[in-house]
Amino acid sequence: ITHDLKTPLTAIRGYAQGILDGVAATPDRMNKYISTIRNKADDMANLVNELSLFAQIYNKEIEYKKGGVEIDEYISRCMSNLSLDLETRKIDFLYRNDVEKGTCLYIDEEKIKRVFYNVIGNAYKYIDKDLGMIFLHIEDAGKMVWVRITDNGSGIEKDELPLIFERFYRTDSSRNSKTGGTGLGLAIAKKIIEDHGGQIYAESEKGKGTKISFSLPKKVDEKKKI
Ligand code: ATP
Ligand code: MG
Repeated sequence: ITHDLKTPLTAIRGYAQGILDGVAATPDRMNKYISTIRNKADDMANLVNELSLFAQIYNKEIEYKKGGVEIDEYISRCMSNLSLDLETRKIDFLYRNDVEKGTCLYIDEEKIKRVFYNVIGNAYKYIDKDLGMIFLHIEDAGKMVWVRITDNGSGIEKDELPLIFERFYRTDSSRNSKTGGTGLGLAIAKKIIEDHGGQIYAESEKGKGTKISFSLPKKVDEKKKI
């Protein structure tokens, strides 16, 4: 992790020194230097935010604010920030909800949103086909629902599959690619899902794609309990 912090820091110092030394002589060059500093600082801020959330969740410093929310409404709210990204990269997004209409989840909306962002963000990040596809499927499982997110991306080697939920783990191919990341996303997701009484697992075929499934609790309907 120190490496992930040092790399952008070294770049920031280098570019700032460049400006001080007058290397960024033209407005174009100056713009490039300052944008790079800005981007590297953003990378560092993301990393520090993820680290701090990770520590808070593990040290139980964060209380979950759980409440009821209707599934379709919740999903469309989660997706509203993501859909533009998907469109601009020509990724087809499919959604299917097979749970009885009006069913509510009992979740901390903000925390579960992070899980959606990470899992869909990964699907998006590791798509290597010209025509990307992400399929979000909700299935009924009695007291729980299964959320399954399938992509047609790079896939994950069999021997690496059990490791992706471990903190800081990134597969060989993603470490070697340009995609940024800390390897904390799925570790955080796993902890959040388990703190909701759910499970999370992955299935994948190298070269073909990946399916991440996690379960979430339904809100118990008081009327039906009698
Ligand atoms: P972060 O989410 O912290 O920014 P990250 O995306 O690298 O970084 P995780 O979300 O924890 O970390 O995922 C761990 C690793 O699992 C990734 O680095 C990648 O190698 C692999 N992985 C996860 N999801 C997919 C996917 N949909 N397709 C291919 N590889 C994946
Ligand atoms: Mg991730």
